[in-house]
Amino acid sequence: MYPEMYDVLVLAVASAFGLCVGSFLNVCIYRLPREGLSVGKPRRSFCPSCKEKISWSDNLPVLSWLLLRGRCRNCRSAISIRYPLVELLTGALCVLVTWKFHLQLGGELTSCIFLLVLFCSLLVAAFIDAELRILPDEITIGGMHLIPVAMLIFQDLRFSPRDGLSERLLAGISKWLPTWAPSTVSVVAILSLVGLFFFAAGCWVYRGYRRWRLPEESDGFFSISLAGLLCGLSAALVAGACILPGFAESKAAYNLTSSLLGMLVGSGVVFIVGVVGTLVFRKPAMGFGDVKLMGLLGALAGCWGVITGFFLACMLGSLVGIPRRLLYGNRHLAFGPFLIVAGVFVYLWPDAVDSALKWYMGLFAG
Ligand SMILES: [Zn+2]
Repeated sequence: MYPEMYDVLVLAVASAFGLCVGSFLNVCIYRLPREGLSVGKPRRSFCPSCKEKISWSDNLPVLSWLLLRGRCRNCRSAISIRYPLVELLTGALCVLVTWKFHLQLGGELTSCIFLLVLFCSLLVAAFIDAELRILPDEITIGGMHLIPVAMLIFQDLRFSPRDGLSERLLAGISKWLPTWAPSTVSVVAILSLVGLFFFAAGCWVYRGYRRWRLPEESDGFFSISLAGLLCGLSAALVAGACILPGFAESKAAYNLTSSLLGMLVGSGVVFIVGVVGTLVFRKPAMGFGDVKLMGLLGALAGCWGVITGFFLACMLGSLVGIPRRLLYGNRHLAFGPFLIVAGVFVYLWPDAVDSALKWYMGLFAG
């Protein structure tokens, strides 16, 4: 097959896939934050105002909305423009990510599919946050579980220039701790034992902490397993750097380090901004949902990426927020959607954001 033909074919499949998935994402946006509804139950889509089931022919992406002129066939009540908009956006997102990551950067198709699933979930989170100011834990904490592991397995997911902090940290570990070279079987055994032990220890310590600090809340199984996973991965990383010669220089070790470090820096930045903001304005400045979302974006974009992404999100937020406030006096604006747009952009175009920021800083340096 000619390369151009392959490109066109892949992009056509990506856009069709995106339009259909967009239809499903609409279901998630409506059902995830609402009590008593789950993504799988009821099976068929229904009209939010008359509850009538929607036939498949009235459920075609974008097309059905246009044919029905944005009204329900049964009760004629208006269907939000959000439905075709989400479908179009998902189609565009899938084409953009496939083109940039798979065709331009030469990333594997499997890594590309992982990215598509991740970005589609983030799109759902952005719309839910914009509407209800909730960032669902299923997406933020779920992503924080998956990304570091994915970075280890699909190594082409990390393509931005290497950050010095992760490199120095890894070099430090392998320099200061003793290394030796046992057989493969014992390496696997040692790493799994260390990982499992620290997984259990992390879960146990964090559960104790929650019971001490948040006694009235439930145990939060999902957050506890995240604490355990992060401890287990970090311990396995340190152990790997000690017992495997050359591991500290490998792509896998770098990916995992930069992902864990990015998570720490990302959630740390918003946490500190939130604490300072609360002290200054005497009311909660940032939700804890944003802390978790920044953890996810940090795991994805690395520590430098997530910091630049945060500044980009603040700029985008002020571009939209200041005129909105002047026009409508509306003070509440969800920050999540801006973080998500900026995070995805910073991840896919690390160099462009870098040079844009240098230019911006240059304006002040004179
Ligand atoms: Zn209806």
